[in-house]
Amino acid sequence: MKFLDLHTHQIEPENGIFSLTPEFEIPGSGYFSAGLHPWFLKEDWRESFGRIKEIASNPRCLAIGESGFDRLKGPEIFTQKEAFHAQAELAFDLNMPLILHCVKGHNLLIEFLKSSKNLPHIIWHGFNQNPKLAIQLLDFPVSFSFGKALLIPDSNAAHWLKSCPLDRIFLETDDSGLEIYSIYQAASLLLQLSVEDLGNQVRANWNRISNRKIA
Ligand SMILES: [Zn+2]
Repeated sequence: MKFLDLHTHQIEPENGIFSLTPEFEIPGSGYFSAGLHPWFLKEDWRESFGRIKEIASNPRCLAIGESGFDRLKGPEIFTQKEAFHAQAELAFDLNMPLILHCVKGHNLLIEFLKSSKNLPHIIWHGFNQNPKLAIQLLDFPVSFSFGKALLIPDSNAAHWLKSCPLDRIFLETDDSGLEIYSIYQAASLLLQLSVEDLGNQVRANWNRISNRKIA
């Protein structure tokens, strides 16, 4: 896999991790992640969580998520926190990264990072927040995945990418419909690093934090 796409909604991607939710079948090929998205959490989320555990035992499942916090959408925060904590514990037990969805919930994330002893590696997907917030997260096992916001030169994402430690960087298409290569190109210009070197860097980043390696 030359250019890892950390998070995509395109099913059976050649170069990436498809974001699977429990109501769908495991795709016939390719890698995926499995999680309970905060938007769609129901009262009986624990039942769906059982299914997530099953899916996660498949060797093509590379990560837990996307899961996390959203203050603009989804059920009350108490439920979001419970579901997130359960998924973080699962990710830790399986030694897999957790792909984070976080909208106006960074205080909840920081609270979790400070209070939990068993932290999985967390990758904040679609990161486009103030670099000051990102710097606070560097004390913890947190990486950043950048997507289409990198195409906007003055975005928070573009600013943070330039000062983010190279070993904390991932790239993604999410639901943008873009080719992952165009995100690598944009990042390569901002970082002044060749697209090939960047591809190798991101792959090495993945293999450092996960026990399910990619070639
Ligand atoms: Zn997504």
